[in-house]
Amino acid sequence: MPMSEDFKARLLPVVEEVAAHYGTPFHIYDEAGIRQTGEALKSAFAGIEGFQEYYAVKALPNPRILQIMQDLGFGFDCSSIPELILSRKVGATGEQIMFTSNNTTLEEFEFAAQDGGCILNLDDISLIDKVPQFPELICFRYNPGPRRTGNLIIGNPVEAKYGVTHEQVVDAYRLARDKGAKRFGLHTMVASNELDHSYMVETARMLLQVAEMVETELGIRFEFVNIGGGFGIPYHPDQQALNLTRMASEITALFDQFKAQHGYVPKMVMESGRYMTGPHGALVTQAINHKETYRRYIGVDSCMSALMRPALYEAYHHIDVVGKTSLPQDQVYDVVGSLCENNDKFAVQRALPQIEEGDLLLIHDTGAHGHAMGFQYNGRLRPQELLLCCDGSIELIRRAETLEDYFATQNFSADLFRPSTTSC
Ligand SMILES: *Cc1c(COP(=O)(O)O)cnc(C)c1O
Repeated sequence: MPMSEDFKARLLPVVEEVAAHYGTPFHIYDEAGIRQTGEALKSAFAGIEGFQEYYAVKALPNPRILQIMQDLGFGFDCSSIPELILSRKVGATGEQIMFTSNNTTLEEFEFAAQDGGCILNLDDISLIDKVPQFPELICFRYNPGPRRTGNLIIGNPVEAKYGVTHEQVVDAYRLARDKGAKRFGLHTMVASNELDHSYMVETARMLLQVAEMVETELGIRFEFVNIGGGFGIPYHPDQQALNLTRMASEITALFDQFKAQHGYVPKMVMESGRYMTGPHGALVTQAINHKETYRRYIGVDSCMSALMRPALYEAYHHIDVVGKTSLPQDQVYDVVGSLCENNDKFAVQRALPQIEEGDLLLIHDTGAHGHAMGFQYNGRLRPQELLLCCDGSIELIRRAETLEDYFATQNFSADLFRPSTTSC
C-alpha cells in the first residue's frame, strides 16, 4: 500500500487544522515513520558487520530530516557542494560523508577535501589525475554495462553516463594505488525504484565478484562495497512492497560466504533515499477549480513545481480526498496544476470520489524526490515543508518561496561586459 496506514492515521485527524494554520499547499513528513523505516533497515542488515546507510541527501535535502538520519546513525551521500555543506551543517564529518559526484569539477574536489574531507567516490578513471590531493581512501563507481539490465528511471547501464566499465575497473584501482591510495571501496548504482528484492541481491553478488577480481589482480582488499540506492517503494496500491527481510537475509548469506572463502569480508554500505523517506511524505493541496470539457478536471493550488515525478516519469502517486476516503471512487478526473504545460497533472483519468472546491487532496509518497526536484518555471514557486513530529506537534522545516526569492537573481538595471573585440 502506498503511504503507510500509520502515517495516514496520524495525519488525517489533524490535516484540516494544519491546513487552516499554515495554508495550503505543503509537503508534510512523518518523523515516526522515517525512524521506523531506519530501524527496520538496520535490523534487517544487522547480520552484516559494519553495515552503514548513507542517506542520499538529494531525496529530501532538509537539515531537520538529516538530523533524524544522524540520530539513526546514518551518514550522507552527496553529489554537489550545497549537499556537502548541508551535511556538514548538521555535524557530519570525514567518513560519515560519501561524495558520489559525476562530471565533477576541480572546485568540487577541492571543496570535498576541506573540513575533514569525505569519502571520494570517483565516477571515471580520467578523474584520478584531476583529484588535487589524492586521498588514502578511494572508491570507484562501477558500471557493469551489458552484464546487467537496468530499469526505467536509471536506464540501461550501457547507456548510463555513470561509472567505470568492467574493462577499466582493475586499471582504475591500480592507478589509484600508484597515486598513494591504501584503502579501497567499490560502488555501483544500477537500479532505481526497484521492487524486486532479487535484483538487489544480484547487485551485491556482482560487487563481491568484482571485489574478488580486483583483489586477485592487484592484491588489494576492499574495506566496503556500496550497493547504491534504488530500493523501491510501492507507489501504486497494486504493487507489492520490496521484501526487505528476504533481500537482507540473501545478501547476508553472500557476505558470509565471501568471508568463509577469503577469511575477511568488506563492510556493506548503501545509500538509499527513496526507501527511507518516500512513503513518509505527502503533498496536501486544495481543490480550487473544476472544469468540464472533453475531460473532467480538478484544478488544485499546487503544480509540478511541488512534485515533478508524474510529469517527468509518468509516475503514479495515489490520491486521497480528505474526509471522503470511504466514499465510492465513482468519478473520473484529471487532477491538474496551473503551469502552462499539459503534463502538469498529478493524476490522469483517476477514479476518485466526487470532489468539491475547497476539498483537501492528499497526494501520497512525496517524501523523496518530491519538493527537492521542484523548479520555478512559469513563476510557480515551491511550497512549504512541514514535519509531523513524534510528539504530535508540527514543525515548519522550510517556508514557502516568496516573490523576493524569485526576483533575487534578476537584474533590473544593466550589468554589462563589453568584449574587447566587438563588431559594432
Ligand atoms: C539518487 C541516488 C541515490 C538514491 O536513490 P534512491 O532511488 O532515492 O534510493 C543513491 N546513490 C546515488 C549515486 C544516486 O544518484
